[in-house]
Amino acid sequence: MKRMLVFSAHAADFVWRAGGAIASVCAQGGQARVVALSYGERGESGELWKDPKQTIERVKAIRHAEATRAAQALGASFECLDLGDYPLRVNDKAVERLIEIIVETAPDLLLTHAEKDPFNPDHPVTYQAVEKARQLATGAGVASAFRTVRPPELLLFEPHQPELCGFVPTLFLDITPVWEKKQKAMEAFASQGYLRQYYSERAAHRANHARRIAGHKNIERAEAFQRVLPQVVRSL
Ligand SMILES: [Zn+2]
Repeated sequence: MKRMLVFSAHAADFVWRAGGAIASVCAQGGQARVVALSYGERGESGELWKDPKQTIERVKAIRHAEATRAAQALGASFECLDLGDYPLRVNDKAVERLIEIIVETAPDLLLTHAEKDPFNPDHPVTYQAVEKARQLATGAGVASAFRTVRPPELLLFEPHQPELCGFVPTLFLDITPVWEKKQKAMEAFASQGYLRQYYSERAAHRANHARRIAGHKNIERAEAFQRVLPQVVRSL
C-alpha cells in the first residue's frame, strides 16, 4: 500500500508519462496525489486555442476538468498550483509549497520530469524545483530544525524525446493490467488528443524492451523510468 506523489509541470504530463504507474499503485490499494505546477494553458493546449474566442481562464477551466477526469480514471487526486507556463516560474514561495506538499504527503514514491529537455523550458524547471524541495523535505540541513519525512524513492518519467534529454531507463514497469485505465485517462485530454497514439506506441515499444530484458512474454505495455538515487536493499 504505497503512497505516490507526482509533480507534473503541466496538467497532462502525468498521464502520458506515468499514467500506468499511478494506476498500478492505486489498483494495489495505494494512494496517488498528482500536483501540476501549471495548467499548460498557453504551451500545451493547442487544440483549445483553435477557437478564436478562447480565453486563458476558459482554457485553464477545461484543463482542470480534463486533468481531474484523467486522475480519477487512474484512481488519483489532482490539484494545480497554477504558476503559469511557457515560461513556468517557480519562486521561493512555490518551493516552500512543494516542500509542504512532500511533508504532508510523506510519499513512498516521488515522480517528476527529467533534468534536461532541449524542447521544453518548463519540464527542467519542474525537476530543479522538485529536487530542491525533496532535499529540504527529507532532511538536508540540520535535521532537528526542520519537519522532515523519510526519503521517498525518486523516479523520473520518460521525456518525449528521451535520447536528447539524457534519459536512460533504469526501470521498466509492466502496465499491462492497468492499460485500459491509462487509455481512459489519455482520452480525457481532448486538448492534446494527438499524443494518444504516440504514447500508446511508446508503451508498446517499452513493453518489447521489458520482455527482452526480463523474459516475461506477457508484458504488452510498459512505462520507463530513471532512478536518481541508488536502490537500497537488505538482500540481493
Ligand atoms: Zn509538459
